[in-house]
Amino acid sequence: MASEQDRLLMRIAIQTARKGQETPGGECVGAVLARDGEPASTGFNEGAMHHDPTAHAEMVVIRKLCAALKTTSLKGYTIYCTLQPCGMCTMACLWAGISRIVYGAGRSDVHYIYFESRHNNTVDFIRDAFRDDLQIEGGVLAEACSVLYAKPSDPVPDDSSPAHQQTPNPI
Ligand SMILES: [Zn+2]
Repeated sequence: MASEQDRLLMRIAIQTARKGQETPGGECVGAVLARDGEPASTGFNEGAMHHDPTAHAEMVVIRKLCAALKTTSLKGYTIYCTLQPCGMCTMACLWAGISRIVYGAGRSDVHYIYFESRHNNTVDFIRDAFRDDLQIEGGVLAEACSVLYAKPSDPVPDDSSPAHQQTPNPI
């Protein structure tokens, strides 16, 4: 169950996403890593900033905090994401040993351009992982997060990522 503390930290993720939107080369996806309710790392998508398609908000905060702590294990940390993590970021959370994933807008709340595949879902990755202690909670401040993104019914934006610059197979 999401707590008031979860909502507070999600608000920080939303503020961070907005900062990304205002930053040249940044994008409007925010993430926060927190432990015991204390934010330890915040970040937004920096793909265009660094010419790095892997620089999603989640990857940015994981890299920053691991580098700062000189560790590869973020056990005990919760990651807050304005958008449901993609497959890459979900796997990165698993590799980093993150204990809990909390996200705002889910796949069905936003346009498909924000995801890399048609059916792979964060929950499927986690169900198949060698982990039975990872918790996931979606839909926290879902409305406040969803308004940051194109709706499922919107046309494909011109600036969508290369993975989406063609007509998808109607499967
Ligand atoms: Zn991602």
